[in-house]
Amino acid sequence: MDQSQIDLLRVRQIAPQSHFIDGRWQAPREVLEVTSPIDGKSLTTIGRADHDEVDQAVAAARKSFDDGRWSRMPPAARKKIMHRIADLIEAHALELAVLGVRDNGTEIGMAIKAEPGSAAGTFRFYAEAIDKVYGEVAPTADNVLGLIQKEPIGVVGAIIPWNFPLMIGAWKLAPAIAAGNSIVLKPAEVASLSWLRLTELCAEAGLPDGVLNVVTGKGTVAGEAMGLHKDIDVLVFTGSGFVGRKLLEYSARSNLKRVYLELGGKSPNVIFDDAKDIEAAAIGSVNGIFRNSGQVCVAGSRILVQRSIKDQFLEAFVRHAEALNVGDPLNLTNDVGAVTSSTQLAQNLGHVDKAKNEGATLLTGGDQINQASGGNYMAPTVFSDVSSTMSLAQEEVFGPVAAVMDFEDEAQAVAIANDSDYGLAAGVWTADLSRAHRMVRSIRSGVVHVNCYGGPDVTVPLTGFKQSGNGSDKSMYALDKYTDLKTAWIQL
Ligand code: NAD
Repeated sequence: MDQSQIDLLRVRQIAPQSHFIDGRWQAPREVLEVTSPIDGKSLTTIGRADHDEVDQAVAAARKSFDDGRWSRMPPAARKKIMHRIADLIEAHALELAVLGVRDNGTEIGMAIKAEPGSAAGTFRFYAEAIDKVYGEVAPTADNVLGLIQKEPIGVVGAIIPWNFPLMIGAWKLAPAIAAGNSIVLKPAEVASLSWLRLTELCAEAGLPDGVLNVVTGKGTVAGEAMGLHKDIDVLVFTGSGFVGRKLLEYSARSNLKRVYLELGGKSPNVIFDDAKDIEAAAIGSVNGIFRNSGQVCVAGSRILVQRSIKDQFLEAFVRHAEALNVGDPLNLTNDVGAVTSSTQLAQNLGHVDKAKNEGATLLTGGDQINQASGGNYMAPTVFSDVSSTMSLAQEEVFGPVAAVMDFEDEAQAVAIANDSDYGLAAGVWTADLSRAHRMVRSIRSGVVHVNCYGGPDVTVPLTGFKQSGNGSDKSMYALDKYTDLKTAWIQL
């Protein structure tokens, strides 16, 4: 990847976008303007799907599922198509990454790995899983045969957020189609472009018509129509708790569709005074909160530091935060890109004001920067003297804002770490192996990173505890969301 290749791709014209229904691009009835967070300029338009367009997408998915064109295709043939999708993603990796960055502002160095890189890996993982999931024979009496097998559920609805559309979309689409389902997917209105390009690649790879349908537009219209649709069997979602609650209501008001939610976090990152290298802990913690402008669900946004090393750690943490280059996400020399939308930026600044009013100490940042660019940029922001009763310790900012809290001993660290409605991720920095294991056991979250922050690949599940969600993305466990258990009881 070099700057000249990126610069060629960043100026490409982007045609007005359509919905993808039953294997064809369908011009939308209404459109939404897409502006780039890099400079605030208009990029193109996407469709603003209405109830009728969602109906058409669901009908196409249903037809393709019921006639077995995919659900009953031999596993080896489905596997080949999924590998071809991965091949095409890899062949178009930089194009996909740059398109996505123009839409959502993630720094390109991170986007290339986290978006096409992890999406391709996810398709390969589930392509290989297709012909490795066996049924079971129950331990019955001799005159009976009890068979237990997994079946696809039918039509999956997937609603995804804007922070990593390709990665998170692949976490839904790949296991859903590996299990034989058809799907209707709605990307976020501020990050649909790279997903639409990936959809084109899926068709080119030979995914049959109607198996993947994509509608774009407003969550409150298209997303609601999916949530209430009686012919969607399971709804998988990544996004905020606010919308997650609505989806549970839609399910209750419609067909009791299963709803799986991957929601937000306020993840504790705990630094003990016996950490092997305080400087390394500071660098890891800076990356754990500020990459992608803090728009990472597992971001370590609560930094818990043992009091005996507070000053030493804070000096290093603030120094490394201030050393980050924030700016044009398509410039390879920048470490951090743009905040995805002006709405999100305004919300971040609102959280800063609230933290100041509640008595937290602002050590660095707190402002919008690079305003002349016309884009949405925010300085990495660090507050210390944060207590668990403050909103900054409890509410997810989803921006580049770290809340530093201090503790005396391990018991207090655990108590503060668990004092949250969320339970998505955590970090622990210590050289004491026993302490590391005790912390892994004690912290109520889906993942605990030890002496690092971030990085788990598709082989391990991502699971939310408490109000961070239910069910898992990634790994073989994700297949449970997309399969029903069928039994046969056969008298011999
Ligand atoms: P969001 O909840 O605002 O939007 C997510 C999706 O829901 C979008 O596609 C949106 O159009 C749609 N939506 C909005 N209103 C809807 C409605 N009434 N009915 C149906 N759909 C609706 O979230 P966001 O701002 O795009 O993403 C940020 C959130 O996602 C953060 O809370 C973050 O922590 C979370 N997240 C979680 C994970 C995870 O794996 N747990 C990963 C990434 C992001």
